[in-house]
Amino acid sequence: MKKEVSYKINEIFETLQGEGSFTGQPSLFIRLQGCPVGCSWCDTKHTWEVSPEQEVDRKTIVSKKSENDNWGVFTINQLKALFISKGYQAKHIVITGGEPCMYDLTPLCNDLEAIGYSCQVETSGTFEVQVSNKCWVTVSPKVNMKGGYKVLESALLRADEIKHPVATEQHIDDLKSLLDVHKVINKQVYIQPISQKKRATDLAIKSCIENNWRLSVQVHKYIGIE
Ligand code: SF4
Repeated sequence: MKKEVSYKINEIFETLQGEGSFTGQPSLFIRLQGCPVGCSWCDTKHTWEVSPEQEVDRKTIVSKKSENDNWGVFTINQLKALFISKGYQAKHIVITGGEPCMYDLTPLCNDLEAIGYSCQVETSGTFEVQVSNKCWVTVSPKVNMKGGYKVLESALLRADEIKHPVATEQHIDDLKSLLDVHKVINKQVYIQPISQKKRATDLAIKSCIENNWRLSVQVHKYIGIE
């Protein structure tokens, strides 16, 4: 018998998308476990390791109340059943991480789209993006991070939006040279301050105006939701 596709999941929750084009959209977030990219300012470091000792049952994942490195295995059918049993109203799924593109997400997107959900994946662009044709792809390119991974041209070209976290002028220069080298044109580019500090926000505003990019401010952090 063919083995069902399954995913290692850190958490599942319903909230509003706080970033990029879908800001304000009620969404079901599926956070996958595992990321080797190594961004120093990462706010989900608890998703980096897929440690066998941290594997727990699905009930523990579903009832998680705070961030930790526990993860559990879910098949697509188990996810669909969970969405129904929890009575989630959101029809938009955000697949995030960790680095979700370490997994082939095509069957997940296809199955969820077939029952009326829209899908979005948030990726660093350092792994091949394997999703459905309709899936909205947000690439948040991570340049020169500790893990040594390169941002892939194929990921940049597949992106529906590029969302770049910035704290310094160097981050802006990195983005410009990335777009230039890979001849990425006609994409929605969002600049997102790395923190809520004024300096990062001012830099983001300035670079948006200078380059005709858009601002993304992680609304969820300002209004105190997950
Ligand atoms: S790619 Fe994302 S999850 Fe991975 S280290 Fe960077 S910010 Fe964290």
